Amino acid sequence: MRVVHLKETHSMFDLQGKVALITGGNGGIGLAMARGLASAGARIAVVGRNPDKLQAAVASLCQQGAEARPYAVDVCDEAAVAALMMQVVDDFGQLDIVLNNAGTNIRKPVQELSLSEWHTVLDTNLTSAFLCSRAAYPHLKKRGGKLINIGSMTSIFGASFAPAYSASKGGIVQLTRALATSWASDQIQVNAILPGWIDTELTQKARVEVAGLQERIIARTPAGRWGTPGDLAGIAVFLSSPASDFVTGTAIPVDGGYSVQA
Ligand code: NDP
Repeated sequence: MRVVHLKETHSMFDLQGKVALITGGNGGIGLAMARGLASAGARIAVVGRNPDKLQAAVASLCQQGAEARPYAVDVCDEAAVAALMMQVVDDFGQLDIVLNNAGTNIRKPVQELSLSEWHTVLDTNLTSAFLCSRAAYPHLKKRGGKLINIGSMTSIFGASFAPAYSASKGGIVQLTRALATSWASDQIQVNAILPGWIDTELTQKARVEVAGLQERIIARTPAGRWGTPGDLAGIAVFLSSPASDFVTGTAIPVDGGYSVQA
């Protein structure tokens, strides 16, 4: 039997010498995952649209002792995404980890949703992951790499107030499986994280728009609380590190037990 020594366990999660790109890394869950990866030694490319949030996120990562740079890019823009990957590799010399985390929601019943609202949500949550993954592939392939997509509880369950969001997050799981099977032989592992209900800007809005949501979530979550962005940092480090080298195509809930509650 192979015995894993303490020092070896530590190095399994070591991201020294790795470069990670995180879309939507300028706030919420993305920034918390960026902090986790930076703590494990990765250098970070932070991607978002809002320049003030970008500067603040990079400043806080640098304050933590990380090397981080901001990239103001709309991840729905095919040409901008292609240029982004080239720029990151120019700046850092390599790209090893991509977290497709940027996301949005428009909460309306399906009969009230316009086609343009549908496209906004699908483009931001799903098409962007396709664009970023495709543009990153030649770089990840050079040394093997890690790709992480962010799904949701709506990857599993329906939500009457979020038809486009649910479709996009269901699609993220299937995209993850397709990429995992395509790129396993390139030593690229592709996995999805399915966060439960996490306290961020996105859900602060939901709590205003959906009556009783705050209480319903606590009642259904065995852990008895909403998640914090920091609850996602550990799984992001695991899926970015050598510890997960034989894990691919999975969709892992991080939800305080929400998805296993009867
Ligand atoms: P936030 O609203 O805090 O973060 C969303 C991020 O996405 C922002 O940093 C935003 O940057 C970025 N973003 C949105 N659109 C674009 C775009 N077109 N181009 C570039 N960046 C973009 O929400 P969360 O942190 O909660 O969400 C992060 C991810 O986690 C999303 O995919 C979300 O669906 C998912 N998720 C969240 C849950 C929760 O409970 N909070 C539960 C399940 C999944 P900027 O402001 O600069 O545009």
